[in-house]
Amino acid sequence: MKRLTPIRDWVHENYRLAYVLGTGLLALGAWAVDPEARVSLGLGAWATALALGAVLEPCVNVGSQLYGPVLSRGRTDRAVLALTFDDGPCPPQTTRILDVLAREKVQATFFCLGREVRRHPELVRRMAREGHLVGSHTENHCNLLFSTPGRSRREILEGHRSLALVLGRDPEWFRPPYGMRPPWTLNQARNLGMTTALWSNCPRDWQRPGAEVLARRVVDQARPGDVVLLHDGGGDRSQTVRALELLIPELRRKGFDFVRLDALSGTPQA
Ligand SMILES: [Zn+2]
Repeated sequence: MKRLTPIRDWVHENYRLAYVLGTGLLALGAWAVDPEARVSLGLGAWATALALGAVLEPCVNVGSQLYGPVLSRGRTDRAVLALTFDDGPCPPQTTRILDVLAREKVQATFFCLGREVRRHPELVRRMAREGHLVGSHTENHCNLLFSTPGRSRREILEGHRSLALVLGRDPEWFRPPYGMRPPWTLNQARNLGMTTALWSNCPRDWQRPGAEVLARRVVDQARPGDVVLLHDGGGDRSQTVRALELLIPELRRKGFDFVRLDALSGTPQA
């Protein structure tokens, strides 16, 4: 499985080209299997797939503003960046991350799942008490691109409600799972008073390549205004915790300071 990682990384970084080539190969394969089929049929299928891809692309591209405003990166020349953590709260990892942030005097942003908020409300209260920003990441982490508008509305509404009950105030920030956001989900979040945020610096901590590699990935690509995507839930995040201990002093050495996501808002930049 390890050998597949470079291929997955390439597809991740070149997903547009991968989609064009992949659908082209499928069309070619279908034509090869059935030589009676006309070439124009294969080309027509390919063109349809490409048109569909062009419509869906702004739903998955973290930098696209085509279907509505999202904050992926702050427009600033100051050497600041926002650390964000998704999929929690999830003990003991969230606790350890909060401990590191407290020790380093760093304020960060957490995008919590409603179902986990209801299981661990004390962790959410600690986040707020220690000055971190807490946003919603839906109720159950379902992929909103493959959900009906009704289901996605329920997911966003329930996630918002679970968090509001514990925080004692309405959350103002929303991050869709996997960054997948059909246009109606942006409206649904906005109607609840939430701004949608994505990210610009993604070290892919779910791959668990080792804490040093993770820290290096964040530091090497760090730019002013970056939003860094990390996870405190959704699996074993011990490498993320260790990487955090490495990357905070390393980024400080490079002159970076850390802010909450809302300090980067105002003028979103792709
Ligand atoms: Zn997530």
